Amino acid sequence: MSLDSAYTPGTLALSFELFPPKTAEGEAALYGHVERLMTFKPRFVTCTYGAGGSTREKTLTIVEQVKRRFGVPVASHLTCVGSTVDELRRYLTDASARGIDNIVALRGDPPHGESAFTAVAGGLRYGNELVSLVRKDFPGFGIAVAGYPETHREAASPEADLLNLKRKVDAGANVVLTQLFYRNDDFFRFRDRCHAIGITIPIIPGILPVTNLSQVQRIASLCGATLPPDLIEDLSRRDDPESQFDAGVAFAIRQVQALIDAGVSGIHFYVLNKSQATAAVLGAVGA
Ligand code: FAD
Repeated sequence: MSLDSAYTPGTLALSFELFPPKTAEGEAALYGHVERLMTFKPRFVTCTYGAGGSTREKTLTIVEQVKRRFGVPVASHLTCVGSTVDELRRYLTDASARGIDNIVALRGDPPHGESAFTAVAGGLRYGNELVSLVRKDFPGFGIAVAGYPETHREAASPEADLLNLKRKVDAGANVVLTQLFYRNDDFFRFRDRCHAIGITIPIIPGILPVTNLSQVQRIASLCGATLPPDLIEDLSRRDDPESQFDAGVAFAIRQVQALIDAGVSGIHFYVLNKSQATAAVLGAVGA
């Protein structure tokens, strides 16, 4: 299934994001978690693309295997970091030959130790250029792009960031998957602003259920998401892992339920290669 038909009015389209495990044991365990998550009938499953293309082969292997084992449509993430257009074309040709349905088209972050993104000679500078490449030369792929409810950290302004998102949409993206966030109002404002500038494709909230405080503080600081003070306070008071997990999941249940009540057409879960938290949330909201 391509992404343009994944979101239909009146239904909740779920998607799950994985990352390439470092070891064979990690990969074997991952398929067990994906199998449990299949209970919730996701419309598609995605796998991230490591900085600088470091996981190129692994990313394709994971999505290919997930599709083969579970019969679910898949998306490979792809970034412009460290690749020429010819290399990006080779990756897309390979992904197409291996039956990958969709591409999450991204610019990517600057390589480790560098503060600014610089395109390689013969490479691309922005996500919209990658969307154009995919749409023009690989029209069979559905395309998802990244959106930022709290504004991308390098953007000149929230308005400029939104116009840049519109460039990706105008270049042919089918869906916007958002960066993770914990304050629904940020998402609702973002969605309204997207609609106001004529973005009409689905804008799907990205949710990372918190399972422990230090992990979420690290991730949130990497991607610029604000953690609500009451959540931090609640988690800080609990010193055993089980209790932190329960509090994080309870928060995610409230957050996801409020999104569903507000009529979102889908939710993209950053599952971090585990099923427990996402399954607990989806079980509780009756998805
Ligand atoms: P862009 O859309 O190119 O935006 C980058 C910055 O440039 C923004 O500030 C934007 O406002 C500005 N900009 C965009 N276009 C223009 C233009 N034409 N002119 C001037 N300025 C412009 N990273 C990975 O390395 N691997 C992954 O697998 C991965 N998956 C992700 C999945 C999701 C759902 C999300 C939300 C993020 C993901 N990321 C991933 C992180 C992402 O790569 C970073 O956030 C990156 O810094 C920006 O990528 P982008 O595609 O949004 O870039």
